Order: sequence, then C-alpha cells, then structure tokens
Amino acid sequence: MSIPGEPSSASPTVEGILAHNRNFVEQHAYEQYETDKFPDKKLAIVSCMDTRLTELLTAALGLKNGDAKIIKVAGAEVSHPFGSVMRSLLVATCELGVEDIMIVAHTNCGAQHMSGHGMIEEMRTLGVSDERIEFARHCGIDFERWLAGFGDTEEAVRKSVDMVRNHPVMPPRVRVAGFIMDSVTGELVPVDC
Ligand SMILES: [Zn+2]
Repeated sequence: MSIPGEPSSASPTVEGILAHNRNFVEQHAYEQYETDKFPDKKLAIVSCMDTRLTELLTAALGLKNGDAKIIKVAGAEVSHPFGSVMRSLLVATCELGVEDIMIVAHTNCGAQHMSGHGMIEEMRTLGVSDERIEFARHCGIDFERWLAGFGDTEEAVRKSVDMVRNHPVMPPRVRVAGFIMDSVTGELVPVDC
C-alpha cells in the first residue's frame, strides 16, 4: 500500500513493471514487434482508454504492431478542434501518411453519463480542497462541462467525425468514419455520419 507523499518510484505496480521490462529487453522479446513509424495500413484510430479494449480493439480489428496510429482518450471523443487528439490526427495525416481515420467508441463506456458535478464530489473525497476546485472554475473554461461525459454514444461519435472531417486544415483526401464497438464481443457497428 502506498503512503501519500511518498515518491512514485515506491509504487509496487511500477516496480513490477520495471522488473518485467528488464526481462523483456534481455530476452529480446521486442524482436517480434519491430516496425517503423509509418502505419502500414495508412490508418489512424481514435478510441477509448477503457481497459476492456486494451487488446480487444486491435484483435477485433485484425491489427498488428505497425498497422495503425491509435489515439486513446476517455470516451473516444475529439472534444476540441485544437486539442491534443486533433493535433495527433494532423501529425498522422500530414507527416505519417494516414489516409483513413476511424473513430471507435464502445458500448457501456465509462464516460457516458459522467457528470462534472459527480466528478467534483469525487475530487473532494480524494482530498482536493474547495479552494482548488474554485480556482479551476475560474481558469477560463466551463469546468463542469469540461469534465462531463456524453449522453448518447452515436451522437458523440457523429460530433467527433464531424469535427475531424470538417477541420479547416485536414487534408481533403482523408476519409473519416465512425463506429461503436461491443465491449464484450468486439463487434464493430458503423455509425451513420
Ligand atoms: Zn470508454
């Protein structure tokens, strides 16, 4: 159990990962993953950070190391036209040869129905002071809305597809499509966008 205030290097999780990593490199286990930075399928995917999708996403899509640029954020949402997801997509399309973009949300996403108010309550429980929460409310954004998830998954996918497809500097050759993946079976259902 970690003690608050202790340096993160004391984390047993990270220590375990570092031990595995030393072994991985020593055994040359990386050799089966060797590839270059250009995605073989000229594909970028925006999907959710959900742990159910960690391996399911690539397995269900038949993708291996080197095939696609995969950007993972809560809710698979492209929420800002000049945020880090959009920037990554521009790097992928302008620098790395990507021609297809898939937005892949999924069923029972943790970001669905997430409320900004609820998360602020969780922050209080985790020791964030009211003073800091108030400060965040005055940083030039609608703090609660920024924290909030989405209501309808299809609608969220359409919004993200629309933002990418109609971004002012997205190269015109790029095709953008939206999908919802079943979090259990991996079935991919297209969203009419
Ligand atoms: Zn999710």
